[in-house]
Order: sequence, then C-alpha cells, then structure tokens
Amino acid sequence: MRKLLAKVGVTTVEGYALFEYAPWLNYDQQANDIRSPTAQNATASAHRREIARSATLAASVHNPSRQLANAERRSAMLDLHNPMLASGSLPNEYQEVLSWKVTENLSRVILAQALALLSFFISGVVFAVVAVSLGKLPLSSSFAFGLSEIGVVLVGVVLTLVVHELTHGVVMQLFGAKPTYGLLWKGMLLYATSPGYAYHRNNYIVIALAPFVGISTLVVLGMWFLAGTTWVVLLAICGVVNASGAIGDIWMTMIVLRYAPTAYIMDERAGIRVFLPIS
Ligand SMILES: [Zn+2]
Repeated sequence: MRKLLAKVGVTTVEGYALFEYAPWLNYDQQANDIRSPTAQNATASAHRREIARSATLAASVHNPSRQLANAERRSAMLDLHNPMLASGSLPNEYQEVLSWKVTENLSRVILAQALALLSFFISGVVFAVVAVSLGKLPLSSSFAFGLSEIGVVLVGVVLTLVVHELTHGVVMQLFGAKPTYGLLWKGMLLYATSPGYAYHRNNYIVIALAPFVGISTLVVLGMWFLAGTTWVVLLAICGVVNASGAIGDIWMTMIVLRYAPTAYIMDERAGIRVFLPIS
C-alpha cells in the first residue's frame, strides 16, 4: 500500500498523507550533496592534507628540520581540532550515528498515525476543559453551525498549519540556518526544513517543540482574552490540530534526548540525522 502510494508521490508524515513536492527535483540527491561538506570543500581539505603531508615528510629521518616538522604538525592538529567552522557545518571529528525517518517503514507510519490520533483525542479533552473553565464556554448552549462557521474553521486550521511550520522555520533562522519551505499534498500543507545544517542538540529541541509550546500557549491566552465568545471554539480546534500535528516533533525530541548534549542534529523533512564525536 505504501509502495503504491509512493509511486504516485504520496508519503505519510506527522499524521498526514503528504504529496511529495516536486519529486523530479531529486530532493534526496540534493540533500546528499549538502550532507558531504568535506567533499564539497575540496580546497580546504586539500590544504589540510598538504599541511599534514608536509609535516609527515618533514618528520621523516631524511629531513633534518625536526623542529619545523613538529611546529607544522602542531598547526595541522590545531587546524583539525579548532577549524573555523561556518555556522551549521558539522565539525570534522563527528560521525553519523543515526538516520531516522518516520516514513522508513510501514509500521512506523502506522504508529505515527495512531499517535497523532491519540494526541487528537487527548488534546481534544485538554482544550475542551480549558475552553469551559478559562474560556467560559457555556456547556448548555447550542451553536448554529452554518457554512460561514465551517469556512472560518477551515481558515483557522490552514492558518494553524502555516504558523506551525513558520514557527519551525523562524527558530531555525534564529540558530543561523536558511530554512526552506515546501508545499505538500498539492499545496495544502507546508513543511520547513534545512537539510545539511547541523544544530546543537538542545537548539534542535527548541526548533522541534517551538510550535507545540508556542501555539498552545497562544491558544490558551486567546481563550482567556476572548472568554465567553464563540471564538473560544475556534481556538480550541486550532489547538487540537496543532497538538495532533506536533506528534512527530515530540517523537523526534524524545529520540534526540537519548543522545548527549554534545550531539549535532540535522533536520530532514520527515526525520533527523544524529552525529556524535568519533570516540
Ligand atoms: Zn512540526
């Protein structure tokens, strides 16, 4: 079933069926190219190799200038251990220890859908309770739900998804990355990502959780300000949609928390890559 869906460009992520945005652009190949900065940065690594080579040559018995050799070797080592890192580039002495994608296998996709559904119900109860207590939503009154109300809810849901991804992107930008946004499922859903950009573990957690924490806080504050009005209902729906869509973010946060704070994390559209120092 998933293979069949993949054939027509549909993948499932964060509890939604997504349409692969422009698969002909060979996104994964692009991501691979960005992933290997050492291969791309040929001049720098050639320079580094040259220093190491001359240090080794100079250190050999045929070369009398041992002192110079040691100095050069020291400079080569300094160069290796204290490279002038561009923002977001992975230090040389790091290696990949995990590549995780929610779309990797069918069971993981089903689990993600189930967790999104569970989150939908749990956050539904939570936001309903907040709507009644803080939002002073009358339990007994009935609402006339016409076409205009449905329209407002649809706009609210789309806005929530847009703001959710924009929040990821803005925080990525705060940490120095240039996030790219994409349209999924024929333009109905957005994603934000920054392939090849290495974040410190804790910074990545902020990126992952910012929409869940930020939008939920805004929803609760909004219910408080607009208490007693029907807007409280809309806010509750937006809160539930956001919390349900954040299940992938929470999942990835739990994965990266298994690694030391020294770990570096790269974001993929539907997953992450984890890097640790070579031991
Ligand atoms: Zn998210």
